[in-house]
Amino acid sequence: MKRSAACLSLLFLLSTVSFGQSYEKLHASAILADTHNDVLSTATMKGLNIENDLTGKTHSDLARFKKGGVDVQVFSIFCDERFGKDTAFKFANIEIDSLYAIAGRNPDKMAMVRTMSQLKRAIKQKKIACMPGVEGGHMMEDKLENLDSFHKKGVCYMTLTWNNSTSWATSAADETSKKDSLPHKGLTAFGKQVVQRMNELGMIVDVSHVGEQTFWDAIHTTTKPVIASHSCAYSLCPVPRNMKDDQIKAMAANNGVIQLNFYSGFLDSNYIKNRKAFAARHQAEADSVKQLKWANYEIDEWLAKKYPTEADNIRAPLSLLLDHLDYIVKLAGVDHVGLGSDFDGIESPPQQLNDVTTYPLITKALMERGYSNKDIKKILGGNFLRVLKANIN
Ligand SMILES: [Zn+2]
Repeated sequence: MKRSAACLSLLFLLSTVSFGQSYEKLHASAILADTHNDVLSTATMKGLNIENDLTGKTHSDLARFKKGGVDVQVFSIFCDERFGKDTAFKFANIEIDSLYAIAGRNPDKMAMVRTMSQLKRAIKQKKIACMPGVEGGHMMEDKLENLDSFHKKGVCYMTLTWNNSTSWATSAADETSKKDSLPHKGLTAFGKQVVQRMNELGMIVDVSHVGEQTFWDAIHTTTKPVIASHSCAYSLCPVPRNMKDDQIKAMAANNGVIQLNFYSGFLDSNYIKNRKAFAARHQAEADSVKQLKWANYEIDEWLAKKYPTEADNIRAPLSLLLDHLDYIVKLAGVDHVGLGSDFDGIESPPQQLNDVTTYPLITKALMERGYSNKDIKKILGGNFLRVLKANIN
C-alpha cells in the first residue's frame, strides 16, 4: 500500500515536471507580442531607467522583459490631455527619441523595427523587437504632417483617442459622460482623413479608448485591419472602454485583433466596488496625504504599498483574464484575440501576473484550458503580427 502510494506520488511528480517543461518550452518557442506597455512614460515621470533592475518599482525593465519571453513590444507613447497645442507633439517626440536612445545603448538586447523582415531578424537574434505606439490622437495636434512624422519615426499604431476626445474623434469616456453636450460625436470629416492617411502610411488604427460612434466610423472608413491595443470584453465587465459584442464581431469581420488588457478594473466587474471599500477603510489616511496635493492615483498606489495583502486580495483572479479570452474566441474565433497588458499603466494586474516575467503563466493557463499549441501561438503573438503585416506591407 505504502509502495503504491509512493509510486503514485512519483508518477504525479513526473507528470507535473513534464507538464511544467512543456509549457515553458512552448512559451519559449512562441513569438510573444504585447501591444501596450506604459513603462516608458512611467519611468520618465518617476526618473527611472528601464536599463536598471526596477523590481519592486515597476512591472517592467529590460532584463525582466527577456525573462518573461517577450519578443515584440510596443511601447506606449503617452501624455495626457494637459499636454495640448505646441506641447503634446513635442513631448511624444521626446518619448520616442528616448526609446531609440535606450535601444541604441543596448544593441545586443533591443532592436527598433519597422518592417516584418527587421522584426523577424531581431527575434532570430534573440533581441526584443521594439516599436513605439502613440496612445492618443491629441499628440498629432490636428496636423496630418505630424502623423507623417510619427510614421517616419517608426510609430506602428496610433490610438485615435485616449480618455480625452480630440477635435476630430470622441472618446469612450466623453461619449458616455458628456453625451448630448459634445460638439460632435464620432469621427469628423478630418477624423476620417486621419484614418485614411494612417491606412496609406501603413500605421495601424487603434480603437482602444474610443467611443462607440468613433469605433463605427473608423471601422467603416478603414481599408485595413484594426486593433484594440489594450481592451477587454464589455459583456463580462461593463466599463465604457471595453468592447461590446457587436464591436468584437465587427473587428473579426475586419480581420482585426482585440489585445487583452490585464487591468483588474477592466476584467472584474466587482473590482471598482472592492477598491472603493478598500479606500474607505483607510479614508482618514487618504485624507491626511491629500493635503500634500497628491493625485488620486498616487494615493491609491501609496495605500496599496502600505496594505499589500488587502490590495492583493482585490486583484482579479488570473482565471478572469482567461474568461475574457474564451469569450472573444467563442464570439469571434481564435484569430482575433491577443495580449496588450497595459503593464506599468495599471496599478492592479490579475493575481499571479505580478510583472512582465509572468507571461509564461498565461501560456500554462491556455494549455490547461485545452487550447492547441497552434492556437496558443496565435494568441501570444501570431494574430497581432498578421494585422501588423497587413498594415505595413
Ligand atoms: Zn490606455
